[in-house]
Amino acid sequence: MESVNKKNVLISGASIAGLSTAYWLNRSGYNVTVVELAKEPRTAGAAVDLRGMTVDIVKRMGIYERLKAHRLHVEKIEFKNADDVTEGSILLTSEGEELPDDYIEIERDKFIGIIVDDLKDDVDFMFNNSITALTETNDAIQVTFKNGLERLFDLVVGCDGIHSVVRRIWFGPETEYAHFLDAYFSITIVNKLLIKQKTMQMYNVPGKAITLNAYNNKTDVIFCFVSEKEIPYDYRNVEQQRKIILEKFAGQNWRTQELLDEVLQSTNFYFDEFCQIKMPSWTKGRVALVGDAGYCASPAAGMGASLSINGAAALADALEKYNGDTDLAFEEYNKNLRPFIDDVQATAELNVRQNFIPRTEDAIRQRNAQTVAF
Ligand SMILES: Cc1cc2nc3c(=O)[nH]c(=O)nc-3n(C[C@H](O)[C@H](O)[C@H](O)COP(=O)(O)OP(=O)(O)OC[C@H]3O[C@@H](n4cnc5c(N)ncnc54)[C@H](O)[C@@H]3O)c2cc1C
Repeated sequence: MESVNKKNVLISGASIAGLSTAYWLNRSGYNVTVVELAKEPRTAGAAVDLRGMTVDIVKRMGIYERLKAHRLHVEKIEFKNADDVTEGSILLTSEGEELPDDYIEIERDKFIGIIVDDLKDDVDFMFNNSITALTETNDAIQVTFKNGLERLFDLVVGCDGIHSVVRRIWFGPETEYAHFLDAYFSITIVNKLLIKQKTMQMYNVPGKAITLNAYNNKTDVIFCFVSEKEIPYDYRNVEQQRKIILEKFAGQNWRTQELLDEVLQSTNFYFDEFCQIKMPSWTKGRVALVGDAGYCASPAAGMGASLSINGAAALADALEKYNGDTDLAFEEYNKNLRPFIDDVQATAELNVRQNFIPRTEDAIRQRNAQTVAF
C-alpha cells in the first residue's frame, strides 16, 4: 500500500456519490479532499432507497445499523379517482410486520449525517468552491478552483450530479450524454401530513400524475407530466420551473388546487426532466465519474443512491486490486459496473414511459382496478 498512501485524490461533490467515494478512498489510504459548491454537504431532497447489493456495501462501511434505525416504510399505496374515492390499492406491509433486511429507505439528511460523522476528521472539505479547469501532465492533474487556488492531485473523481462540472470540463457538453425520457417532474416536501402517515396516494389523468407520500409528519407532493418536446428552462431558476407546474396542472380535479397552493408557498421546490446520462466510458486519464454525473438513471429507478454507493465501492475496489494503477483499475471499474447500470437504466426508462404516467384513460382504469396484498 506504500504507493497508494502517498496519493492525493480530489472529489467534486459532497452528496451520496461523493461522500461514499470519500469513505472508500480514505479507507484505502488516499489523502482525500472534497470540493463542494454549496456551503455544506447537500442534505435537501427526497428520501433514498438502498437495495440488495447496496445493503451489503453499507454493512461493509459499518453504517448499516445506524441507517436501519432511521428507516422509513410505506404500508399502502392507494389509487384515487377525481372524487377522492380509492379505486384500488396495494398493501405492502401490515402494522407491526418485520421489514426485510435487504431494503432500507431513509431520508437523505439522515444518510448524509451518518456518513459525514464517520468522515469529518479524516477528509478535507472545501465548501463554497468548484473546479473551473483541469490540466493533465505526465505524473499529476492540475486543478484550478473558483477561488483562484491551483493544486496538483493524482486523481480527480467527479461526483457532482446530473449537471456535473467535471463531466462538462473533461468529457464534453451535457447534450452529448443526456437522454430526455419525454417527461418532467417536481417534488415539494411539505412539513405536515396531507394523508395518513406511511401511505402513498396516486391520482392520474392521461399524461399527468400526482403522487403523495407521507412519512415522519411530512408529505412529498410529486407532479409528473409527459412532454414529447423538451421545454427550455433554466435549471437554476426555480420560479420559472414552479410556473411550469402551476400552468400544466391548473384546472385538474381531485386535490390538485390545494396541492398547487402548497407548491406555490413551498421553499424546497425541486423540478427537473426525467433524464438519463449515458456515456461510453466513465473514465479518462486521471479522472473518473461516479453516481448521477456518470450514469444517472433518473428518479424513476428509485435506485439513484444505490448506483452511487455501488459505483463508489466498485471504483475503490478496482483501485485497491491494482494498487492504485489507474489504467487497469478504471478499465475494471467500467467493465464491472456496466451491466448493473444498463439494467437499472432500462427499468427506469420503462417506468417513466409505461408505469408511472399512464398515457390513456384505459391504462389508468386498468392500473387503478388492482387490489393487491403482498
Ligand atoms: C426529486 C428526486 C427524487 C429522488 N428519489 C429517489 C429515490 O426515491 N430513491 C433513490 O435511491 N434515489 C432517488 N433520487 C436520486 C438520488 O437522489 C440521486 O440519484 C443521488 O442523490 C445521486 O447522488 P449523487 O451524489 O451522484 O448526485 P447529487 O445528489 O445530485 O449530488 C451532487 C453534489 O455535487 C454538488 N455539486 C454540483 N455542482 C458542483 C460543482 N460545480 N462543484 C462542486 N460540487 C458540485 C451538489 O451540490 C451536490 O452536493 C431522487 C432524485 C431526485 C432529484
